[in-house]
Parts: sequence; structure tokens; C-alpha cells
Amino acid sequence: PAAEAERELTDGFHLVIDALKLNGIETIYGVPGIPITDLGRMCQAEGIRVISFRHEQNAGNAAAIAGFLTKKPGICLTVSAPGFLNGLTALANATTNCFPMILISGSSEREIVDLQQGDYEEMDQLAIAKPLCKAAFRVLHAADIGIGVARAIRAAVSGRPGGVYLDLPAKLFGQVMDAEAGAKSLVKVIDPAPAQIPAPAAVDRAIDLLKGAERPLVILGKGAAYAQADDEIRAFIEKSGIPFLPMSMAKGLLPDTHPQSAGAARSTALKDADVVLLVGARLNWLLSHGKGKTWGDAPKKFIQVDIEPKEMDSNVEIAAPLVGDIGSVIAALNARLDGSWKTPPAQWTEAIRTKKEANIAKMAPKLLKNSVPMDFHSALGALKNVIKERPDALLVNEGANTLDLARGIIDMYEPRKRLDVGTWGVMGIGMGFAIAAAVETGKKVLAVEGDSAFGFSGMEVETICRYNLPVTIVIFNNNGIYRGTDTDPTGRDPGTTVFVPGSRYDKMMEAFGGVGVNVTSPDELYRAVSAAMDSGKPTLINAEIDPAAGSESGNIGSLNPQSVVKKK
Ligand code: ADP
Ligand code: MG
Repeated sequence: PAAEAERELTDGFHLVIDALKLNGIETIYGVPGIPITDLGRMCQAEGIRVISFRHEQNAGNAAAIAGFLTKKPGICLTVSAPGFLNGLTALANATTNCFPMILISGSSEREIVDLQQGDYEEMDQLAIAKPLCKAAFRVLHAADIGIGVARAIRAAVSGRPGGVYLDLPAKLFGQVMDAEAGAKSLVKVIDPAPAQIPAPAAVDRAIDLLKGAERPLVILGKGAAYAQADDEIRAFIEKSGIPFLPMSMAKGLLPDTHPQSAGAARSTALKDADVVLLVGARLNWLLSHGKGKTWGDAPKKFIQVDIEPKEMDSNVEIAAPLVGDIGSVIAALNARLDGSWKTPPAQWTEAIRTKKEANIAKMAPKLLKNSVPMDFHSALGALKNVIKERPDALLVNEGANTLDLARGIIDMYEPRKRLDVGTWGVMGIGMGFAIAAAVETGKKVLAVEGDSAFGFSGMEVETICRYNLPVTIVIFNNNGIYRGTDTDPTGRDPGTTVFVPGSRYDKMMEAFGGVGVNVTSPDELYRAVSAAMDSGKPTLINAEIDPAAGSESGNIGSLNPQSVVKKK
């Protein structure tokens, strides 16, 4: 018994922390509460940075985008049942977007949950999480924590990245075991995202198709941004001479001002291309499923680079599937751009250039108007210059018109600087993304938010002030969703899509010690945002936009079902 008392002990709390640290996890995003309050405190004491949020969905979104930015799983830590469910939205969104994240939730007594006897925050969380993420695990014994954390990490980042759920019942944290045995039970994940080399025959097939193309086009998606193969991708584009089109979060992989960018000639490029090389971009709704009007009548062949074999033929036939990681695949393609390679016919690259220049010239005067009230174009014209002058700042963007128009107007210059609503076009990512962007990169962050979009995560302005993060938020305040002009036909209530007219979101920021500014003209907006970005102080700028500006659902109004039965 004497020897027993001298034995060094560890417990579930410490083993979780040691397992995370062993695997290079430096930051946890979460909301404290039973049963993980002490875990958060102890993580902080052990040197892990803990960012405590006001709502788990925002913490989860922060973890997800941390995963996108770093290629390491972002960690979100929540309490059981309701906290878990709040985090689950972010976990599902991360999985849909192929962002690696791990949602770690405390849970209540298995014995009671399984007999459904009504425990505090009782819920069968593992079963609920399973269909919404890549993998879900539960650890019941302290000795299995090392393996549980290792499996979660590998599942999140290997192959197609995604969300993983790790269920840690309250009882686990207090379980004690011998410290030496505990240390031995930990697992450092070796090569968590192994390279996947494409088959040489698949590379030949793709190169043959590209060589036969008259009007080739490369589409870069956020998978290409995630892969961090920036130099290989740039070399491929420039050596091949093929025009490229970046998807939203791939903007800046090559600068939007690059001579080969087809960004401002998107419609022409998609319609007229004959061979399309997709790099980490899916042919989902964002690319009109690879068919229909957007893609024109000319026959098309697709080459697709993706780490997920099942992605091939998801919507149309893929003539040359290139299954592998983007770094390895593009390196293999680059090795084949030898003396026999010919750049695309000048007729094609000139057609795109002419169209692009015409579109840019048409847009230019709209961006220069110093109008009061502001419309989306004049306000975004000011922000375009702010980013041009600070190309290393991160831009977070959500909303309807605020999103669609900013995507086209604000040029990006560096990889992984534009973070937005992603595959689901979801609202609510704003403050979570902005916080993680600042925490993970140490750079200045500009969040350009529709007034409606901001509402989903607005309480996190307190978090931004508390951690004194260099985040500047601009609210495009047009008093409502899409527009601020809706009315209730019966005259009883406000219209369903409008907010309090003349709301002053800037005052929210002041309530927590941040800087609040109200602006009415593009010049004022430019000056206020520039000053905020240079100061690095948490700032919220309420930009008054004409309530009549903006269109229903932004660019995707066609997705709204229409009633054919018109009541008078
Ligand atoms: P976008 O919305 O920008 O078009 P998507 O999210 O639709 O981008 O597509 C990203 C694709 O990239 C996914 O199909 C995913 O499997 C793939 N992907 C992610 N990381 C890698 C990687 N390292 N190598 C290859 N493919 C990847
Ligand atoms: Mg609005």
C-alpha cells in the first residue's frame, strides 16, 4: 500500500490534454459548462490557447475554418445535449465543406442515457452525430484516450477532410490511471494525411485531353486552396498558359489581377470551354451541376483532380479522373509540360481577355460613385481599395447581395485570404470565421457582413473585444434581408424580411469597449475601414446602405420556388 500511494497518477483530464498537445493542437474553440469546464481551465493552464465563445455554433465555425487555414483539425469543445447540438451545425457544415475539425463534447452517464432514465442533459450524442460527419468515436476508458484522439485526428485530415465527433462522457475525465502507463497509451499520429500519388495512366489520359483542347479552362476550388500547393498550382497555370477561374474561396491562389484570370469573363469561359480541368472544385450547384445553360451547347470534356474517388461522375461524366492529392497531381502534370506542350490558341485566350476587359470597364464607374445613400457597388468600391492596399489581410464575407457582389468586386491577391459561406451558402459563419482567422494567422481581418447575416453570430463581438482581436466588421445595413422595404400586406406587423429601420450596430461594439463608427458615404467608409485596419483595434462600422438597394436572394433568386396560384 505504501508503494501504491507513491505511484504517480494521471487522469482523463490530463490524458486528453496530453494527447492533444502531443499531436500539435495549440488552440481550442468552445463554450465552457458541465462537464468540460475544468478541462478548458486545465488546457489553458497547460499552454493550449482556449478561446471561449458565447454560442457553440460560432466556436464550431471557428474550429472549422482553423482547419481550412492550417490543414490541422480545428477543435471545438462543448457541453452535452444543447451545447453539442449547437456545435453540430458547424460540424455538419465543416463536413460538407471538406474542412477538418473535431467536435469534442462532454456527455452524460452512459448507463442512464442507454436506459433513457432522464439524466442531466441526456442525449445519445454519438448516434445523432454519426450521419452528419465523417466519423464519430466515443471513449469510455482513460487508457483509450490516446487512441480515440489519434483516430479522430486521422479521420479528420486524411483523404477528403471533414468533421469528426469525439464523445467524452463526464465519468471519463475523473478516471485515474498510472501516469507511466497513461503516457505510454498516447499516440502521435504519423503522417496524418498521406500523399496520394495519381496513377501514371490517369496522368497520361488527362495530358492527352489537354493537348487536344482548343479552348481549355482550369477551375480552381477551395480544395486547391486547402491543399497548400500554391507554388505547384501557379507554375502549372503559368507554364500551361490556360485561363483559370477561381471559385469563391480559391480567389487569391493566383491574384485576381493575374493576366490569365478569367474571373470577370466567367459566363463566356464556362459556356465556350471545350476541356475543363477541375482542381479541388466539385460540380455541385455552385457550378450548375456541370450542365444546362451556364455550360452552353458546345460539347465538353471534364478532367477532375480530387482526393475523393466517389466525387467523379457525381453530375456528369468525368473523361479523365485524376484521383490523388492536389500537390502530387499538379506536380505530375507539371512534369509533363515539356517541349511538346503548346499554350492554348490565341483566339481563345484573346476572346476571354476582351470579354474580361469589357466587363471590368462596365463595372468601373459604379464602383467610383461617392453616393449617399450608398448602394452595394459604391460601398464595395471603397472596400476593394482597402484590400488592394492590404493584400495580406483576411476577408470574411457573408450575406446575400453583400456576398455575391463582394465576391466579384473585391480582388484577392494571396491564397486562403477569402473565407465565406461555402458549399451550403450558409449564414452565421461570420464572427466565428473572423475570430479564428485572427487567432490562427495573427493578421488583420475584415469581415464584410450583411445586416441579416451578422445577426446570426453578432453576440461574438464581445468575444472579439475580450480577446482584443484585430477584426474590423463592416455591416452593410440596408435594414433587412435582401432589402429593407418589405411590408405586411395586412398592416399588422413589420414585413417578414425587414429589421428596425436605422439600427446602429456600431453601438453594440461600444458596449464592449470596442470602436463603433457610423458611415453614410463611400469616402467615409474607406477612411473608417482603413483607420480601423491600421489600428488593429476591434471595430464595427455600420455602413448605411439604401434600403431599396439589393435584389431578392442576391444572385440566386432563381432558387426561390414561385407560387403559381396568385391570390389577389
Ligand atoms: P468549391 O466550392 O470551391 O468548388 P468544393 O468544396 O466544392 O470547392 O470542392 C473541394 C474539393 O476538393 C472536394 O471534392 C475535396 O474532396 C477536394 N479536396 C480537398 N482537399 C484536397 C486535397 N488535398 N487534394 C485533392 N482534393 C482535395
Ligand atoms: Mg440586408
